[in-house]
Amino acid sequence: MVSMRSRCSKWPVVHKTSEGALCSLRVPSLPMHPIGKGPMTAYVRCLIACWVLVQGGFAFAQPSFQPFAAVRRIDPDTGRGLANWPHARHFDHKHMRLELDLVSLDPPVFEARETLRLTPIGRARSQIRLDAVDLDIGSVGVRRAPDDRSRLRRFEGLSFTYDGQDLVISLDLPAELGETIEVSIGYRITNFLPQGQGLSISLGDPDGETDSERLPVIFSQGQSEHNSKWFACHDFPNERLSTELIVTVDDPLQVVSNGTLVERKSLAGGRTRFHWLQSQPHVNYLVTMVIGALERVELGGADSARPGLPIGVWAPIGRGEHVREAFGETPAMIAYFERLFDEPYPWDKYDQVITRGFDFGAMENTSATTFYPYAAYQSRDELRSIVAHELAHQWFGDLVTCKGWEHIWLNEGWASYAEALWNEELAGDDPAARRSAYLSTVAEWADAQRRGNFGSSPEQAPLVSNFYANPDEPFMKVDNPYSKGPWVLHMLRMGLGDEVFFAGTRGYLDRMRFGQAETGDFRRALEEASGRSLERFFEQWCMRPGIARLDVGFTWDESSMSVEVVQTQRIDAINPAYHFLLPIYVQFADGSGRYVYVNVEGPMARQAFRLGRAPVDVRIDPNMTVAGEYNIVKSLQPAGGAESSAGTNQ
Ligand SMILES: [Zn+2]
Repeated sequence: MVSMRSRCSKWPVVHKTSEGALCSLRVPSLPMHPIGKGPMTAYVRCLIACWVLVQGGFAFAQPSFQPFAAVRRIDPDTGRGLANWPHARHFDHKHMRLELDLVSLDPPVFEARETLRLTPIGRARSQIRLDAVDLDIGSVGVRRAPDDRSRLRRFEGLSFTYDGQDLVISLDLPAELGETIEVSIGYRITNFLPQGQGLSISLGDPDGETDSERLPVIFSQGQSEHNSKWFACHDFPNERLSTELIVTVDDPLQVVSNGTLVERKSLAGGRTRFHWLQSQPHVNYLVTMVIGALERVELGGADSARPGLPIGVWAPIGRGEHVREAFGETPAMIAYFERLFDEPYPWDKYDQVITRGFDFGAMENTSATTFYPYAAYQSRDELRSIVAHELAHQWFGDLVTCKGWEHIWLNEGWASYAEALWNEELAGDDPAARRSAYLSTVAEWADAQRRGNFGSSPEQAPLVSNFYANPDEPFMKVDNPYSKGPWVLHMLRMGLGDEVFFAGTRGYLDRMRFGQAETGDFRRALEEASGRSLERFFEQWCMRPGIARLDVGFTWDESSMSVEVVQTQRIDAINPAYHFLLPIYVQFADGSGRYVYVNVEGPMARQAFRLGRAPVDVRIDPNMTVAGEYNIVKSLQPAGGAESSAGTNQ
């Protein structure tokens, strides 16, 4: 037995039973905890936890899972595989400068000029292909040696083809390896889309009481592949670049975007130009722009929990003092996540932008999260989870980005898991209170998965899968990144212990920062920190769909307790029986208790434990360390008594 002190000093000691065994919290008494806040609350919270969950048009009263449909792996007519693969990167995109002039509001029109700095990958290349959806493209040019001040630095016109989806630019001379070029695209944006699909507009109310209500709001949504609907780009998360937006609007509209506001310049005619620079590279789907009449509240400052970092909330005029209180935990959250992840907040500032028209969701754009409008009226308690979720994305999603949508659980699982981490931290120093706050959040994910995830291979896509009909689908599948994802992280923490789990996580962030991660990158970081082989764990819980369904029976024979566990989920050649240690907490009449562990490897396991005295109660996996649901088929019958109700799930 090995005992180890958690690195996070407020987390209780973990107890390791044997090499390879699951750890569990050392419980001073029966580890009871509230089971979430009810299924409806869980679904509502899950639905607002991230923008993309509402892309499918679900109403609040419906589960966040998409209706089950067998995943299509092959086109039956042609035999063609239907897996999705990361898009090829023929050029390294270094920087985008996007100049937008809102020349008309009725109808809304932007005159746009985009300048992309590129260098070829692999070999000299004479064609540049960019994602660009329904843009009104007028001209394309190239500038060679853009840093060579001795040469004429002007753009030469280029020929291009454009079919409304792909912009293909033909260079007059190939771009050589090591050469940096700039291409310039002149275009107009007139195509404003329904919210969540690129650039959208919410028209103002002429009878509104404030400019916020009277004037329109224009806002973007990039995830998953929607930013190519307002600027040409490599619209897939396997490419990082720095970006800047230079946007001119009529007064009193404001523009909020990624990074630092390097200039705000008043122009003739009652206009203002905003110049935002995101100097550290990020992926295209995280580029954001929100235009509206907003007021900004500063939560940072020398007296805040996170001095030195500008932390703003942009809200409708008149809601500033409310959001100052409601979003008031943000600086402390930032400071806590910095300590826990051992990684400084990565960006120049953190803004939370309450955006009219951006209904039902929030989106973790780099350094500038977009929030749904009702957030201006919610309380601190109501906002806590989503503020923590979106903030955690600044590390998990923005600093380290999933390489492709099949790995989205690395973003969403971690952001959701951070909700539990913050609830745990907020509970204070008392270990029992911390454990209860943490496990209450875990129970919501477990509850959602237990009630909704009955699938298996090959019909259902697992948590990590590149089979999806469109890039928004992985966010909504049954093996859900928002519930199974954080549950898997919880299982890893319980199995590895705090010290190893967080050391591995810090190693993952260290290695992958400003990079693109696959699930294997996270697994390897945990393996290096733990010395364990986690291939089977990840294969079972990430690469296979579904969860374990178990019938559990107990027998007491005066000296020992026998436990029989039967796996009832589908078992066949591609869905083998799960392997895990099933913790069972045994309680005695004097209030003391202990854990026993059933080694479950095949469809059925039976194990006897000499307890020395009769138990009065048992709890199956109270800390939810196995992604499973338990059906008690035979309750424990204590010595000398009638069959009790003991033997319950949690
Ligand atoms: Zn999210």
